[in-house]
Amino acid sequence: MQKIQMVDLNNQYLTIKDEIDAAIQDVLDKGYYINGAPVQRFSSNLAEYLHMKSVIPCANGTDALQIALMALDLKPGDEVITSPFTFVATAEVIALLKLKPVFVDIKVDTFNIDEDKIEAAITPRTKCIIPVHLFGQVANMEKIMQIANTHNLYVVEDNAQAIGADFTFSNGEVKKAGSIGHIGCTSFYPSKNLGCYGDGGALMSNNTDLADKIKVICNHGSKVKYFHEEIGVNSRLDSIQAGILGVKLKNLDSYIAARQKAASYYDEHLKNVSGIKIPGRALNSTHVFHQYTLRVGENRDELQKTLAEVGIPSMIYYPVPLHLQDAYKGDGYKAGDFPESEKAAKEVLSLPMHTELTEEMLQMICSKVKESMMMLV
Ligand SMILES: *Cc1c(COP(=O)(O)O)cnc(C)c1O
Repeated sequence: MQKIQMVDLNNQYLTIKDEIDAAIQDVLDKGYYINGAPVQRFSSNLAEYLHMKSVIPCANGTDALQIALMALDLKPGDEVITSPFTFVATAEVIALLKLKPVFVDIKVDTFNIDEDKIEAAITPRTKCIIPVHLFGQVANMEKIMQIANTHNLYVVEDNAQAIGADFTFSNGEVKKAGSIGHIGCTSFYPSKNLGCYGDGGALMSNNTDLADKIKVICNHGSKVKYFHEEIGVNSRLDSIQAGILGVKLKNLDSYIAARQKAASYYDEHLKNVSGIKIPGRALNSTHVFHQYTLRVGENRDELQKTLAEVGIPSMIYYPVPLHLQDAYKGDGYKAGDFPESEKAAKEVLSLPMHTELTEEMLQMICSKVKESMMMLV
């Protein structure tokens, strides 16, 4: 058996090597390194996959979030509601733009923002909500959009981890993650479910005015070269990465199915192990398993150590919630403010999750988790 890895991009590459190599070679042959045909082709194919009007590619997922907030014309001091249990990028861009991150605690079962606690955090300065579809499940977008409509707020989805997930509304309508709010943002960082071989990201919107504005901001605030209507940034997806993503997008649904199959194996073999809890499921969302994240009651760190000793990697996403990070201390938060996020930070452990996990590997991981937990509890 090959060494078990947290993420295995190399073996995935080998399954699509010919197509990937050809896509890269095409860019080298044609020399259209920036804004070449693969960029437009991939953007329109992704828009079609998401059933959306516009996908605007950019340099990475963090840029996508920043550009989304720039497109909303917010003023310094305006408040943006988000989750403290996420990758730092979500709050970082809020603070960078001199806006104020306002955190709302998460739900126990899904790790996503608790929609029932959002309204209590709204003030006259609140302008936007950024739900993060953490680990691969969509936050309760039906309720979040209702709240946003009632209070006249924008919604920017941080969809870096849930591309391809489906959200079902109570009327039966199904929409893709990232296509529900005013703007969706995603990342093509290599380890993401739809990842390239470098950095990449995208914004998506069904609102034509916002999409036009986003395009201008990505391109130095310019529609006509050397004429700048506003202050923008330089944020592009390069043609080589777009070519790679074009190949990977065709496989996205089968990649999701492979992740779901691995998750079912984990569920089945770990659900009765005492001391750990398998991931809970959102009611209205499919789970695309960017991460398979256990909760381990008391012995999380010991379990991680024991697994590492027998060659099984695991990761803690995320060890410190954002309101307790040094960089965000200035916002006046303290320990105890978001008990569910703080508890999750102490309990979570993500197991290897990627498209190349074999049954033999999964069996080995599960038996080692069981053995370790028996020793620990
Ligand atoms: C990966 C990630 C980002 C940032 O994406 P980059 O491409 O690394 O800039 C933002 N938010 C979440 C939730 C992420 O997982």
